[in-house]
Amino acid sequence: MYYVGLDVGGTFVKGGIIDETGKILIKDSIPTGVGRPHSEIIKDWANFYLKLLADAGLSRAEVSGVGIGIPGTIDDETGVVAYANNFGWRQIPIRQEFSKWCDVEIHMGNDANCAALGETKFGAGKGYNNTVLFTLGTGVGAGIVIDGKLLLGNNSAGAEMGHMSIMMDGELCTCGRRGCIEAYASATALIRDTRRAIEKNPDTMMREVPLDEVNGKTCFDYARLGDKTAQEVVANYQRYLAEAIIDAVNIFRPEIVMIGGGVSYQGDYLLEPIRRMVDKYSYGGDINPRVVIQPATLGNDAGFIGAAALLMLN
Ligand SMILES: [Zn+2]
Repeated sequence: MYYVGLDVGGTFVKGGIIDETGKILIKDSIPTGVGRPHSEIIKDWANFYLKLLADAGLSRAEVSGVGIGIPGTIDDETGVVAYANNFGWRQIPIRQEFSKWCDVEIHMGNDANCAALGETKFGAGKGYNNTVLFTLGTGVGAGIVIDGKLLLGNNSAGAEMGHMSIMMDGELCTCGRRGCIEAYASATALIRDTRRAIEKNPDTMMREVPLDEVNGKTCFDYARLGDKTAQEVVANYQRYLAEAIIDAVNIFRPEIVMIGGGVSYQGDYLLEPIRRMVDKYSYGGDINPRVVIQPATLGNDAGFIGAAALLMLN
């Protein structure tokens, strides 16, 4: 049996077909075309699904349906997207619309939850049953797997760990609250903090980089060269991320916390100090089981692989 997954983003829909071991048979992407009526956007998904099947030379009987990951509040039971901010969507009946074009089994989930499921079944979390994934990008996505199942909450509106607060009255978050993890540990926040540090510190070597060219790598590149200001930005960022991870550890005590997104490519340089803080400050110290902290491994494929994996849970 094969499984089709679609990972809907603001710019592209990534999609692919995997087998039961998570091996990718084929992958591709189409433009999302945000701004058009939802019926047109969803019709494209159905056609994309059919194209993936045709390109892989598979019949409909050989695939067990389609899993769809979408950013927002997604209820698989009703098949409705309650809320998807990037698309301006409220109460959109995805399953009903998709079924107009293609009569298959459809499961859906929040994109960050799908990524967590994908990484748990086939990526960094393979072999573990209790995992947490933080994806550090424009925002901070999060997913929680407990006993092999996604933890979703009422109406699947939970697991939004990027919006736990680590700072009372702190930086303003995109959600309207202050002090959220997203406002400190996203790549966007890291770039903001790097720019601020450059403006405040005339002697930093990071001055070579024009402010509008600062990215999530800048402070790491210069920290490795020994620049004190860059090292301070990195150290602060590590503390923010460690606080977030420690909160997740204290609530869920996963076996592994996985870190995804571009920042995670810094590997041990980013994670080693965080591991020490998590070991030291997690509740119970070294009495409770140690939590593994590792970069995610599926990269941009995690979303569609996890979306396809939704079909394996049902
Ligand atoms: Zn927030």
